[in-house]
Amino acid sequence: MSDQHLARKRFGQNFLSDPNIIRKIIEAIRPLPGDRMVEIGPGLGAMTEPLMARLDHLHVVEIDRDLIARLKTAHSPDKLTIHEGDALKFDFGSLVADGAPLRVVGNLPYNISTPILFHLSAYAERVKDMTFMLQKEVIMRMVAEPGTEEYGRLSVMLQYRYNMGRLFDVPPGAFRPAPKVMSSIVRMVPRPVAECTAVDEALLGKVVTAAFGQRRKTLRNTLKDLLDEAGFAELGVDPGLRGERLDVATFVRIANYIAGQGA
Ligand code: SAM
Repeated sequence: MSDQHLARKRFGQNFLSDPNIIRKIIEAIRPLPGDRMVEIGPGLGAMTEPLMARLDHLHVVEIDRDLIARLKTAHSPDKLTIHEGDALKFDFGSLVADGAPLRVVGNLPYNISTPILFHLSAYAERVKDMTFMLQKEVIMRMVAEPGTEEYGRLSVMLQYRYNMGRLFDVPPGAFRPAPKVMSSIVRMVPRPVAECTAVDEALLGKVVTAAFGQRRKTLRNTLKDLLDEAGFAELGVDPGLRGERLDVATFVRIANYIAGQGA
């Protein structure tokens, strides 16, 4: 690599190097000067620099000390705030304490992409939108519809919180080093809070996890500890179905029914 930084596998480092793809991603993000934006994993700055060119200020969260040192030398703190550490532990709420909506972007390290998405879910009410590059296969699961093979816990839990769309694919050749898999860009916009709300989100998570725990089994089996035949009848849900047939709204109705029974 010309830049002398050897990519670290343990930090999921694959650096974007195709200027056309970088341009396309920045266009998709559409940064505006006053936006409150944070980039997760700026790396060597492939997206950071064009973002900074359009924004008044940018926040980044980076774990790799060598990369942090490079960013510090290259950019003034007036334009760039560098948060050193693990994005999985970072308090994204601290960036929007004044109530400004947060925009989150990043070419996420694939080895921790799902935990980062779940960590960010806690801040959804303060987020305006999120645009991420992820492994294509993960994005296909995120946006999958009921009845498809990709539809599962990740689809339900993220679709519960966000409207999501896959924007375009990015081939391995756009990175140095090239990853083994195809990547895609996803945009995530939090859904209005009033729309289809679970009274107990932990319980929703429990129902969804149980329903997809054994994919080949019917709801009668997978939910047997949570819902009886009378409950299925009252909800109008066929217990002979598999979890993969239920849409998000039905999962929420089931969880809310169980929550009501326990009350
Ligand atoms: N944005 C750059 C690009 O597009 O070329 C780098 C992308 S690279 C796939 C992922 C970046 O996330 C690396 O800079 C890596 O050091 C950083 N990273 C990995 N794990 C992290 C974590 N837990 N918290 C914050 N940054 C992390």
